[in-house]
Amino acid sequence: MTIALSLESDRAQELEALLTLLQPKIVDYVAGATKSTAELGTLGTYHEPQEIRAQFQHAETFESGLRSPQALVGVVEKILLLSVNTWNPGFLDKLYASNNPVGVVLDLVLSLLNTNLHVYTVLPVLSVMENDIGRQYAALFFDLQNPGGLTFSGGLWSNITALHMARAILYPDTKVEGNGAHRFVIFASQHLHYSVAKAAILMGLGSAAVVKVAISQGAMCPKSLEQEIARAKEAGRTPLAVVATAGTTVFGLYDDVEAIAKVAKPHGIWVHVDGLWGGNVVFSATHRHKVAGARHADSIATNPHKMLGVPNTCLFLLVPDVALFQTANSLQAPYLFHGREAGDENFDLADGTLGCGRRADALKFYLAWLYYGLAGFAERVDHAFRIAEYFVAEIRRRPGFRLVGPSPQCLQVCFYYSPPGWTGTSHTLVTRYVSRELHRQGRYLMDYLPNPDDDTEGEFFRVVFNLPILTSDVVDDLVLRIEAAGKAGLEAGFKN
Ligand SMILES: *Cc1c(COP(=O)(O)O)cnc(C)c1O
Repeated sequence: MTIALSLESDRAQELEALLTLLQPKIVDYVAGATKSTAELGTLGTYHEPQEIRAQFQHAETFESGLRSPQALVGVVEKILLLSVNTWNPGFLDKLYASNNPVGVVLDLVLSLLNTNLHVYTVLPVLSVMENDIGRQYAALFFDLQNPGGLTFSGGLWSNITALHMARAILYPDTKVEGNGAHRFVIFASQHLHYSVAKAAILMGLGSAAVVKVAISQGAMCPKSLEQEIARAKEAGRTPLAVVATAGTTVFGLYDDVEAIAKVAKPHGIWVHVDGLWGGNVVFSATHRHKVAGARHADSIATNPHKMLGVPNTCLFLLVPDVALFQTANSLQAPYLFHGREAGDENFDLADGTLGCGRRADALKFYLAWLYYGLAGFAERVDHAFRIAEYFVAEIRRRPGFRLVGPSPQCLQVCFYYSPPGWTGTSHTLVTRYVSRELHRQGRYLMDYLPNPDDDTEGEFFRVVFNLPILTSDVVDDLVLRIEAAGKAGLEAGFKN
């Protein structure tokens, strides 16, 4: 008797059935979202958690399982229906935007391969591809012989790896002894992303080890940095690294990395650039100058899944010399890494990270770059800037709108809207009413947040223009809908 199991016994047929059933639904989902902004509800509306949970009551089915492609596709349809459709041009809420057709297929290929990018023997092709695309990407920033990059599973992991590498390379003993007697300090501007503070916590430094440097004109003030470094040294602390931000999360502003490096380098301080939002302007001849100073950095975190539309998640850490990854991170674990490949180049990529199993996210970037080319990425970035600039010009000339913060330098626009006749001082109610109303209509999803510099006027809108399918017509429609929602809100006493 053969020992056998019927589960997965006809995998090819099962896969074909699922793909055949899903294909038209997936295509419809995308087609529906891209039709027109006038189409109500294609973005998806807000649902309370209870409402969603009620749609997914599967207690009995969890016992036996669905075991039917049709039934599974039925559940997927429900998920699509209740989700925010990020393919809709009205999805202006976050720094990432929709996937694209190429990305969907690449994710499918990754899933098909179901690989684990730790050692070369398991994944020879993708290890070579990750090294090559990492070098090509890093070479856009660093004008050096042997730059390189690896992917990490999230923004925090790119930033913390950079800061850990700073410590491991500048203070090699810490790799064995931990922080020892050092009281390390990390400097970042007041507009830092919270992942820097979390990184400090994880490194055993504590969040108080992050010194927030004053800003002027929205960027880290090099003079204040100099003073903070002196203060830290006087207090017997060890300045470890400074994190410059290229594209801050709230206002999208760029720190002057060259000026920061000039201050930090004489003190032996590592310069890390958090370019997880705005770093990819490097692809645009028009906007590249904003990150020109990054060539003075010791590490740069970048994020193809935000500005470049590569599917979530895809994040890199780039360094001027690829050997730094192993110098900082390798433990030479002989049970895993055999170093069988000839030459100096490392192909056991996990050895250059603090992790083990890794998703092959670099493949998505490699193939997206191959498909669209440098020229395609440049068009994408330039178009997004043109749309953001168009929106800024529109709201500058329309009454009731007012920009918040310094002039926009990236793809998000922060602004207040005061409907005619409104006389309040804190905008929070107005802002929340309008954004909820546009979400309720299923037309636009946009974020709102408090001013990190001065909270007296309340929350403002932050709209991110990051989609190739955005047009000036969408922007015109958005402005009109904000005005209409503001008017309705005034009549309703801003209760919704
Ligand atoms: C988005 C962002 C991060 C975090 O990246 P995730 O991909 O969301 O984890 C870190 N820093 C900045 C400046 C960001 O904008």
